[in-house]
Amino acid sequence: MDNERQELIAGAHELGLSLSEQQATSLLQYLEALDVTNRSFNLTRIPRSEYVSLHVLDSLTALKTFSATPGARILDIGTGGGFPGVPLAALLPDAQVMLLDSTAKKVRFAAETAAACGISNCTGMHARAEALGRDPKHRERYDIVVSRAVAAFGTLIELMLPLVRVGGRAIALKGARFEEELSGVAELVRQLGGSEPRVQTIRLPGSEIDRYLIVVEKIRATPGKFPHHR
Ligand code: SAH
Repeated sequence: MDNERQELIAGAHELGLSLSEQQATSLLQYLEALDVTNRSFNLTRIPRSEYVSLHVLDSLTALKTFSATPGARILDIGTGGGFPGVPLAALLPDAQVMLLDSTAKKVRFAAETAAACGISNCTGMHARAEALGRDPKHRERYDIVVSRAVAAFGTLIELMLPLVRVGGRAIALKGARFEEELSGVAELVRQLGGSEPRVQTIRLPGSEIDRYLIVVEKIRATPGKFPHHR
């Protein structure tokens, strides 16, 4: 546990983030609960020894691509075991983070566990992103929409941009194959009201792994025909 705390604090520092003792404690407690629940209900395939790096620090790389104003509304599409949404909520106590997943049990785990660990600014929502994107209570209501490991970029951006307010941004956390995913999507992104995708490369602390954040600014409203029904 002590090593994990070191890894977490040093890794966050390497990313240029400062983590309070309390934030570190909350996140480590969350990881412990994830591990326990994961023995009976599959939430992640990442081995326990890699949780700090591949779950928490990887999630926190997203903070290199935006700064949240107080009260910012952040949506995590397909949060699964709570990533990247829960670490972002822990580091941004003044933001409101919505954890969305189409599996009710995952949403419940992530939201309830985060709250039990003292991360109180998360709300769970059980729905499909396609449906949320057509719901006036949610469409174009989020400052930041993030997502990791849910779909190829061309599919994902159609789920993300309808939910981003004009002036906000979509951030997709991607691995090394991001380039293939970007090929041929420029016109779709433009139609959705997005800027040209920009890629920010970030070295995962303490590793040789590069992560790629695809950032799209929402510059115009998304036409009503998006997202298409699936
Ligand atoms: N983001 C997490 C989980 C990735 S697994 C992580 O990186 O660890 C993908 C998750 O997306 C699953 O939990 C699945 O239920 C959810 N999902 C897939 N399609 C979705 C959709 N259209 N709307 C909402 N959630 C979706």
